[in-house]
Amino acid sequence: MSTYARGAHQVGDGLWAYLQPDGGWGWSNAGLVTDGEASLLVDTLFDLRLTQQMLDDLRSVTPAAGSIGTVVNTHANGDHCYGNQLVAGADIVASSASAREMDEVPPSTLAALLRGADELGDAGAYLRDIFGPFSFDGIEHVPPTTTFEGRLDLRVGDRGVQLLELGPAHTRGDVVVHVPDAGVLFTGDLVFHGGHPIVWAGPVRHWIEACDRMLALGPSTVVPGHGPLSDQACIRDQRGYFEWLVAEGTPRLEGGMAPLDAARDLAGGPYAGWGEGERLVVNLTALGRDLGLDPPADVVTLFGGMAALASG
Ligand SMILES: [Zn+2]
Repeated sequence: MSTYARGAHQVGDGLWAYLQPDGGWGWSNAGLVTDGEASLLVDTLFDLRLTQQMLDDLRSVTPAAGSIGTVVNTHANGDHCYGNQLVAGADIVASSASAREMDEVPPSTLAALLRGADELGDAGAYLRDIFGPFSFDGIEHVPPTTTFEGRLDLRVGDRGVQLLELGPAHTRGDVVVHVPDAGVLFTGDLVFHGGHPIVWAGPVRHWIEACDRMLALGPSTVVPGHGPLSDQACIRDQRGYFEWLVAEGTPRLEGGMAPLDAARDLAGGPYAGWGEGERLVVNLTALGRDLGLDPPADVVTLFGGMAALASG
């Protein structure tokens, strides 16, 4: 399954992944689960133009996409929920923790951050660079209409779909969508395939446990939150990355290195070939928090650190 073209890819009977290469900042994947006329959309996209394009593309592969009854937002990051207003008639489902995070960081927060980017120096230039391809005009905060904790079993037509809350890890309320009859798992951003993951919430140990829980489901097809389709290999790779981060990061941080210096030290390591290597500074900051070292973790400091790493 090496196909990585933009658009809808059938991954099972009545099942599609919607992929957006190259999987970097904001270029997220989504999915559609159908049975007969019934359909469930896994995630909306980062802006209205992209989400509308996706809805049009999905309607061209199945009429069931014309009447989406349920939307699952896997987590609170905008590239998975900012298109919600285009499916506002649907029941929108998320974990309670994600719903709280969406309320605390609505679309207007990112728009304001970008409008003020000139005041933020290198961090601002970096923000404008990575989010430049997207338009945040006119995006309304459309919160979930149904929330849950732990697990929620849904039906799409006669088809059983399991929502499992495996966060906090990437964010505070990460959810995966499992379609057991087809062995398909939509992971949201608990799996980045081909790029560095980013630990906004943590703890890192909990993300490793989330990988184990995903592997225990035994999926044959894995639709990551970013990057091309895969099987369980991409989950094992993600788990290996965090084992490496803990093993290499802990002695450096406990030895007094700042997260940015530790990131520079590790940047040439075994994951140098993965995209978005600047996220190492955020992941080491999260690990430092796990270790009780409490490095500064405000958003401007984090993006400033990534700007510094990205510029070499
Ligand atoms: Zn994402």
